Amino acid sequence: MKVLLTEDQLRKGIAQMAEKLRQHYAGRPLTVIGVMIGSIVLLADLVRLLDIPLRVELILARCCRGANRPGPLVVNFDLLSSDVRDRDVLLVDDIFDTGNTIWELIPQLDELGPASVRTAVLLRKQGRCQVPVQPDFVAFDIPDAFVVGYGLDYRDMYRNLPYIAALEPHEMSGEIG
Ligand code: 5GP
Ligand code: MG
Repeated sequence: MKVLLTEDQLRKGIAQMAEKLRQHYAGRPLTVIGVMIGSIVLLADLVRLLDIPLRVELILARCCRGANRPGPLVVNFDLLSSDVRDRDVLLVDDIFDTGNTIWELIPQLDELGPASVRTAVLLRKQGRCQVPVQPDFVAFDIPDAFVVGYGLDYRDMYRNLPYIAALEPHEMSGEIG
């Protein structure tokens, strides 16, 4: 396992993203929606840096993916408890890889009538995008490697690491995610 981003680097990058978000949303009714499970650590740290009035919500998006091929995305909005109509929505996810997750989630959120939908991610992987959108707020661009920690898992492990690390090929056996 190779450390890509230390705790200190994460703290600084997230603080910079929080400052941009604070300026962007100042004075507007914001609903922050975390995409479970990977975003929960970022969500907890990020909302504590946003000293603006906001609601926190969660949705679930799971991709049953193989090592190189994406599987179907399973989306569940059942946990969304408050009305987002006419509110600004910030979708928070752990990583923008192919972009398919965000690409599928945005129209589904749009149907709920929000004032706006923007996206914030901790990580964006280089050279992997397959969709015509990019996240609006990105804390870190990283090389194309499979990463774990700070909420991101490999087979439900490593979410609790306080840093981001890339797994070596021999540390992964076949299917990812
Ligand atoms: P996308 O739909 O952008 O291809 O992928 C987004 C989702 O795939 C992420 O929210 C995450 O769940 C998963 N994913 C993509 N790349 C990685 C990675 O390097 N490590 C982990 N743990 N999950 C990843
Ligand atoms: Mg995810």
